[in-house]
Amino acid sequence: MKTVVLKFGGSSVADNEKLKQVAKKIIEYKKEKNVVVVVSAQGKTTNNLTKEALELAQVPNDREMDTLLSVGEQISASKLSILLNNYGYKSISLTGWQAGIITNEMYQNAKIKEINIKRIKKELNEGKIVIVTGFQGVDEKGNITTLGRGGSDTTAVSIAAAIDADKCYIFSDVDGVYTADPNLIKEAKKLEKISYEEMEEMADSGAKVLHNRCIKIGSEFNCNIIAAGTFTNDEGTIICKEIEKPKVKSIVKNSNITKVELKKDKIKKEEAYQVYNTLLKNNIIIDEFKCNGKITFNIENSNINKVEKIINEQFKDYKTFIEEVTKIAIIGYGITGDNKILLEVMKILNESELEILFIDLTKSKIEVTVKKANDSVISKLHKLLIENPNNLN
Ligand code: ASP
Ligand code: MG
Repeated sequence: MKTVVLKFGGSSVADNEKLKQVAKKIIEYKKEKNVVVVVSAQGKTTNNLTKEALELAQVPNDREMDTLLSVGEQISASKLSILLNNYGYKSISLTGWQAGIITNEMYQNAKIKEINIKRIKKELNEGKIVIVTGFQGVDEKGNITTLGRGGSDTTAVSIAAAIDADKCYIFSDVDGVYTADPNLIKEAKKLEKISYEEMEEMADSGAKVLHNRCIKIGSEFNCNIIAAGTFTNDEGTIICKEIEKPKVKSIVKNSNITKVELKKDKIKKEEAYQVYNTLLKNNIIIDEFKCNGKITFNIENSNINKVEKIINEQFKDYKTFIEEVTKIAIIGYGITGDNKILLEVMKILNESELEILFIDLTKSKIEVTVKKANDSVISKLHKLLIENPNNLN
């Protein structure tokens, strides 16, 4: 019998009523297939746990933070299993380590190294529905690790790849991948299909639908990922190999970025290297690190306390300047092959009087970093590039 992986996001398992609906959905799949379920923590649990830890320490201990955060997923997995067993379906919940998920040691952003699928297989062979806690694993020393915010998607796709599942469904409160955030742009449309490459660019640019690392894994193992709504039977969006002709697929705005500037007289190359290394060792994800007269780099807003503490303690002689910035990404395979789209984008940004800090082009993405942008720019770009692309000529 084929196996399918079903992942449910935090808002889909937020309370007992929702858990019951999720359980019913799982039972439908179980009629035809073996089922592995991956769950996120209920509702805002992870946010709340983070907030509580930050009330105890400005920069909580990394190891303990992961131990704390991993609890959320255990609650949803065990509750769901209680429910399924009660409905008469044999089910078992497994934590990251019980499911054989081995990661590296990078707390809060750990990468899965391997999955020992013995236990999952054994339980499936006994006819059980296997429910695995998303977002967590264990390092080689036995410490609990977490995979980064939104990491349950990566747990799901990694398990799907490891057990050679038929498909991996990512169910959540959004019923697919859209041409823009439907909360910002009411004209945004759901896409039927999107390629791994485009989806990866979207996730890297800050679109929250899927965790960025899960897409690379899906693509590597050629596992079809379907993003769909938990509480609807509508078709979702398929993320697969197929690439259509070049056109703009989606526009993503990410305001969760802080630009950090470090200044002092004469910075030597080794000193810049030291800063970079120290940040990396502290599990800070850094983007666009540059050293030309001054050191500049981007981080996520949530890391600002941690970075400021490191700089104040270990690099006292630098002056620090921080500023929140916004990235606007226009995504579609091959769209940078022709200047037309790029020229139109620049025209709109100019008319909106945005201060451009950086432009990055890849085969499938135009990404512009600006100082603060409001949503009307996204709306203008969406109108021209997606709603009326014929006006581009
Ligand atoms: N519970 C974790 C988070 O909120 C992981 C996930 O939901 O994927 O980020
Ligand atoms: Mg998510």
